[in-house]
Amino acid sequence: MSNNTKVGFLGLGHMGGPMAANLVKAGYEVLAFDPVPAAQAQAREDGATVVATAAEAVSASDIVITMLPNGRIVLDLYTEVLSAAKPGTLFVDCSTIDVADAKQAAELAAAAGHRALDAPVSGGVAGAAAGTLTFMVGGADADFAAALPLFEVMGGKVVHCGGAGVGQAAKICNNMLLGISMIGLSEAIVLGEKLGLTHDKFFDVVSTASGQSWALTSYCPVPGPVPASPANNDYQPGFATALMTKDLGLAASALRGNGVDGQLGLLAAEIYSRFNQDEAGKDFSAIVTDIRKRSGEEPA
Ligand code: NAD
Repeated sequence: MSNNTKVGFLGLGHMGGPMAANLVKAGYEVLAFDPVPAAQAQAREDGATVVATAAEAVSASDIVITMLPNGRIVLDLYTEVLSAAKPGTLFVDCSTIDVADAKQAAELAAAAGHRALDAPVSGGVAGAAAGTLTFMVGGADADFAAALPLFEVMGGKVVHCGGAGVGQAAKICNNMLLGISMIGLSEAIVLGEKLGLTHDKFFDVVSTASGQSWALTSYCPVPGPVPASPANNDYQPGFATALMTKDLGLAASALRGNGVDGQLGLLAAEIYSRFNQDEAGKDFSAIVTDIRKRSGEEPA
């Protein structure tokens, strides 16, 4: 894809807004649509051409990126706009959705004579703004190659994971493991508190021992050892509990749908779902405060 490529961008929220802005900055003509007026105004300010309907954005574009809240909305939107697209348009869905929905979206696009990739991201709003997202991509080699220059504008790392749906698979496998490991780490920290182990000594030992994890060394859920972690900022996200709960729900659905005996994944989904009822806006590492509360511990 060259900079003459016209990009349709549907969904200009926390993630899609800055991603579209980076494409504009890189010289792409971006035809943008979102039903929310504030998102439209921001996109206009960022230099995108804001159009009145999703179909209008799609009909004039060579490649269409979607960044939407969930799989139902992605499938409904594909159903609505596929017939408006030029034959062979490349649809790239960057939303985090169910693997089965991602496969269905690719099938819908193919049946309408188009091409499709699933390309969920990690890196959050900060990564979207900085153009340093990680893209995990599923789909055909040629389609991946065609979209790569755009991924390289919006991201810092791009991995072609496999065929349709396998990008979403990488995303939910990683986040399931992260959710499980944050819960496990937090249980160990609260147990240590009960047994008289300070956070500093816990970190000193475990960060270089066999219990080491990214959750501890880069995202420590208690204040102190990792100054940049959300624990030092009253658990402002970061990665909100609502998003972790969503991703664990997708992982649970994939575990069940594929007959995997993923007991910890299912339990992690349950634990975060309960925490999410009161603390959806807190960073997911605040689960340590919930474990402490349920253990009858005062905050350390
Ligand atoms: P968001 O709610 O801020 O943005 C979604 C946007 O989609 C909204 O502006 C909404 O108006 C728009 N939208 C809804 N229906 C539409 C339609 N029919 N046509 C066009 N636009 C429509 O959500 P977000 O935080 O930007 O997340 C988007 C996706 O990225 C989600 O799937 C999320 O799980 C995933 N994600 C988010 C983060 C994060 O940190 N926020 C990180 C990684 C992945």
